[in-house]
Amino acid sequence: SNTLMAGKRGLIMGLANDKSIAWGIARALHGAGAELAFSYQGDALKKRVGPLAQQLGSDIVLPCDVGDEASVDALFDGLKDRWGTLDFIVHAIGFSDKNELRGRYVDTSRDNFTRTMDISVYSFTSVMQRAEKMMTRGGSAITLTYYGAERIMPHYNVMGVAKAALEASVRYLAEDLGKDGIRVNAISAGPIKTLAASGIGDFRYILNWNAYNSPLRRNVTIDDVGGSALYLLSDLGSGVTGETHHVDAGYHVVGMKAVDAPDI
Ligand code: NAD
Repeated sequence: SNTLMAGKRGLIMGLANDKSIAWGIARALHGAGAELAFSYQGDALKKRVGPLAQQLGSDIVLPCDVGDEASVDALFDGLKDRWGTLDFIVHAIGFSDKNELRGRYVDTSRDNFTRTMDISVYSFTSVMQRAEKMMTRGGSAITLTYYGAERIMPHYNVMGVAKAALEASVRYLAEDLGKDGIRVNAISAGPIKTLAASGIGDFRYILNWNAYNSPLRRNVTIDDVGGSALYLLSDLGSGVTGETHHVDAGYHVVGMKAVDAPDI
């Protein structure tokens, strides 16, 4: 543990359980002395998120469905009641109908395309509209993306299109908010077995492929992501904005299947 985040307050969005990427990030921030607030989606998650927040010394646990503007407003009103200002945001939210995270991208329905873009892309912009007003001393925000934004990955389909839009929105947000000293970055995480990932077809195969072929010859953990998030959200990352930072055991730099990788 260290004091990199001492005196800093931030909101963690997208914690579902102790497998969530948001949990790895929250733990790293707490270990560095940050004060944390959490938002959760729906009553079912409240009994999971409450005790996890408590483990990290937080009693600020607020509901928010990012598909609903009034709900996002209510979250920030609730946060303002507790804290005057905000220093950082973690946006670890994505959604698509799992029936369309298999098969062909070309078969994506209009309804799911729109919903995937709304929840997985627009929500970050919508959150930053509100966060900006509370980040009066500057700030730092991150969202989570995946390599399927840049290259075709099996079954990722409409989510890949959404992540490409999310990465582009990170660059535009960085420009708009940079004048106020607010930095905006994305972490492109390698595959990790979480609730959201279990909706993706052949996920075990994808995990094995990455472990066999990435330079580090392993998959990343939520703690790996937490360490990089800490860098971007603390003053260590003070010169970095608009970036998509890969935390993927190096997979994205590989051009060809490794000679020592088994056939899977
Ligand atoms: P997770 O299931 O633990 O977290 C996803 C979260 O999104 C959940 O907490 C869920 O409640 C929330 N969410 C979905 N719809 C919402 C809505 N309408 N309103 C509010 N919250 C909503 O899974 P995770 O893998 O930790 O996902 C976090 C982020 O990381 C996602 O953006 C995901 O795309 C991204 N990511 C995951 C991987 C991976 O392999 N797991 C890799 C790269 C990027």
